Amino acid sequence: MDNKFNIDDIKKALGTVIEPDLHKDLITLDMVKDIEIKNDEVSFTIMLTTPACPLKHQMENDCKSAIEKMVEGVKNIEVVFDSNVRADSRIKKKLDLNIKNIIAVSSGKGGVGKSTVSVNIAVSLAKEGTRVGLLDADIYGPDIPIMMGMKTLPQTSEKKLIPGIAHGVELMSMGFLIPEGDAVVWRGPMIHNAILQLFTEVAWGDLDYMIVDLPPGTGDAQMSLAQNVPLTGGVIVTTPQEVALSDAKRGISAFNKLDVPVIGIIENMSGEIFGSGGGEKAAIEMGLDFLGRIPLDAQIREGSDIGKPVVISEPDSETALNFRSIAKVLAGKISVIQLKKSE
Ligand code: ADP
Repeated sequence: MDNKFNIDDIKKALGTVIEPDLHKDLITLDMVKDIEIKNDEVSFTIMLTTPACPLKHQMENDCKSAIEKMVEGVKNIEVVFDSNVRADSRIKKKLDLNIKNIIAVSSGKGGVGKSTVSVNIAVSLAKEGTRVGLLDADIYGPDIPIMMGMKTLPQTSEKKLIPGIAHGVELMSMGFLIPEGDAVVWRGPMIHNAILQLFTEVAWGDLDYMIVDLPPGTGDAQMSLAQNVPLTGGVIVTTPQEVALSDAKRGISAFNKLDVPVIGIIENMSGEIFGSGGGEKAAIEMGLDFLGRIPLDAQIREGSDIGKPVVISEPDSETALNFRSIAKVLAGKISVIQLKKSE
């Protein structure tokens, strides 16, 4: 028996499905591939802009209901997902690295959990199937090797350093290069060179996202990074209290001055002791996106101390789920930045 419907009917239905972040329909955005019809069954692929897309299931449901509503005779609909993370072309041009997006994580002051957030976001993105690098540029307190459970770098006879791989993430840190306990007095030009070398003297693989953990504050490291490395955007981590928030605002204005898009604010250590909601309030006040909040949770510190980020050590905990949701929201926002640039 001939099909009662054809590919054009399916396209017409999918043309009514709006991509929730980009506010355009899936056909206009060229996100639907490989539409196939077999008897009364339809299958097609949705090309996402990130495998970590937070709205995957919503889109799947919207596609199914549009087809069910508009096309008669369809018995079964199979939606397959594939992805193609868009690249910030400046990274290849300027640094000759095959990294698609570089995201700086910053905080107004130390101790707010910036490194913890960087680590858990990087591991969460890797868990979603993306290729992730984590660069610990916190030259004053390079704790990330400990948090990721890695003491030394792989040996190499090559000229470039080989990044470590921990929990599915490529990793580089000044902590590998400076013997523990050694204090380095960093001066402006040294900071500048050190940070740039962590990009150019390291054999980074092909990455969808590189997360850069900056030193706290708005000093030389930020300046140097923003001037030398094309940053897709910056994220600010803050605790909920007023004092931390005024520091966070300084961090935001530093990014603004350096022309780095601020992707949003993450509130960490929220709960009974420090309160809750300050980060969101600050985001609203400054017209920025709030990416989510992480509770004050002893499991975070315990996991960090033994080299297991909470998204690995307690993957089903509320804290881990919050981190994973923040990572997906972040990936979605990065896609929007890239798509807007290419429009
Ligand atoms: P920063 O990079 O901002 O200096 P860290 O990520 O090193 O901060 O975190 C400082 C300390 O606080 C670490 O011991 C870390 O394990 C702990 N910590 C971070 N976030 C939380 C949280 N949400 N709950 C409990 N402890 C946390």
